Amino acid sequence: MRTQDSAGGPAAAPSVRETAGSAVMDQPLYVAAAKIYPRAVHGWFAAWRWALVWATQLVFYGGPWLPWNERQAVLFDIAQRKFYIFALVFWPQDVIYLTVLLVISALSLFLFTAVAGRLWCGYACPQTVYTEIFLWIERRIEGDRNQRIRLDRGDWGARKLGLKAVKHAVWIALALWTGFTFVGYFTPIRELENSVLHFDVGPWATFWILFYGFATYGNAGWMREQVCKYMCPYARFQSAMFDRDTLIITYDGARGEPRGGRARGRDKGTLGDCVDCGICVQVCPTGIDIREGLQYECIGCAACIDGCDQVMDTMGYPRGLIRYSTQHALDNKLGVRDMWRRVFRPRILLYTAVLWGIIFAAAVALYIRIPLKVDIIRDRAAIAREVEGGLIENVYRVQLMNTRERARRFLLQAEGLPGLTLVGDRTLDVDGASARLVPVKLRVQPAQVTAGKHPITLTVQAEDDANVAVREKTIFIVR
Ligand code: SF4
Ligand code: SF4
Repeated sequence: MRTQDSAGGPAAAPSVRETAGSAVMDQPLYVAAAKIYPRAVHGWFAAWRWALVWATQLVFYGGPWLPWNERQAVLFDIAQRKFYIFALVFWPQDVIYLTVLLVISALSLFLFTAVAGRLWCGYACPQTVYTEIFLWIERRIEGDRNQRIRLDRGDWGARKLGLKAVKHAVWIALALWTGFTFVGYFTPIRELENSVLHFDVGPWATFWILFYGFATYGNAGWMREQVCKYMCPYARFQSAMFDRDTLIITYDGARGEPRGGRARGRDKGTLGDCVDCGICVQVCPTGIDIREGLQYECIGCAACIDGCDQVMDTMGYPRGLIRYSTQHALDNKLGVRDMWRRVFRPRILLYTAVLWGIIFAAAVALYIRIPLKVDIIRDRAAIAREVEGGLIENVYRVQLMNTRERARRFLLQAEGLPGLTLVGDRTLDVDGASARLVPVKLRVQPAQVTAGKHPITLTVQAEDDANVAVREKTIFIVR
């Protein structure tokens, strides 16, 4: 058995003879992945894809270079356990916001998938975006589909060697820049730049730059559609989120069949609108034929729509032989208005309402967030002891986190027991975006309390703003 690559060439495959009943047939143990040579395509959806490539990459490559308050605007400082995002500083205690972000991401994915299938895969997934960029470089250097096929099939010579060397050099440079940018989100990028220029990068930064760079080069340059087909789990469970009113990329078989070639301007007779030119297959980055129906390999990039629309324009037929539609609309020949009415079905409205509710709640929580965190740790080595004057003392360790970026003075106060007094300094200065751990001693007269555990409250309040205050409950032990 032989397999064909997307350019029509044979791909080698070892085979064994296998018996099935009385028949004897050749079955390949392993079929080499056929190389796909996607043809360049232009059109409305290609423009959208490129708009998203620009938008996502401007954010990604530009993000770590933005300054804010004499620091990097976006920095995930793992060593210091602080995440800076413009004016916000997140601490490990803010993990709830990360959870909310994950919930919002998951709900958005459900919503977009239920509305229009693999929108994320087709337009914004890093695998799609980098494959698009790497393909663009490949086309600039080696030419479009037919030139690339000829080049790959031709003998090795100076020209082929030169073109391949230049292509891989540009790919590797871009991949390393991507790895450098990625690491620049976790370590100040200007310091990293300085280290790179002086060949003085630390081992971890070197590892991650090379690792991320290698992953980019391998995934976008070599693996491409294989990542989507075999490695990405999303392709496998997407069908669970589709229903008959989900917008998918469809071929209108009723209009297109029977397919067949014909000269432009000639009467098509009994043929459908599909001229069987194969352009929709040639532009497909995963090499599938959408005319065979929805397949899990389809990443929803809509390149086949643009390709087919160009053919329809040339032939003088209406556009949309391949188009976004729904199973319901195709089966019942629904008009555009009816189809869209069903797209915004109750499930979608519910997802949208829940999503906006969570986004609104998260935004409000962030807005009213107090830039102060307090953790009280009881000193177990000295639970309760008698000190001078017969007083009972409990010792606590209080951690104050000033999440504002400027230094602040805080006032400490304890209440909850008669005669409860705080020993030592009641004012504490904490630097901007810093934490300070201080011992706090509380004392009471034994005559004023009974033995046991007593709930008390420790209040920490900013000296310059009474609204910035945290009340933490703890216990005072009397033996
Ligand atoms: S691009 Fe359109 S006309 Fe050409 S084969 Fe595909 S569906 Fe048929
Ligand atoms: S079938 Fe069309 S939408 Fe699906 S991956 Fe191929 S070109 Fe993209």
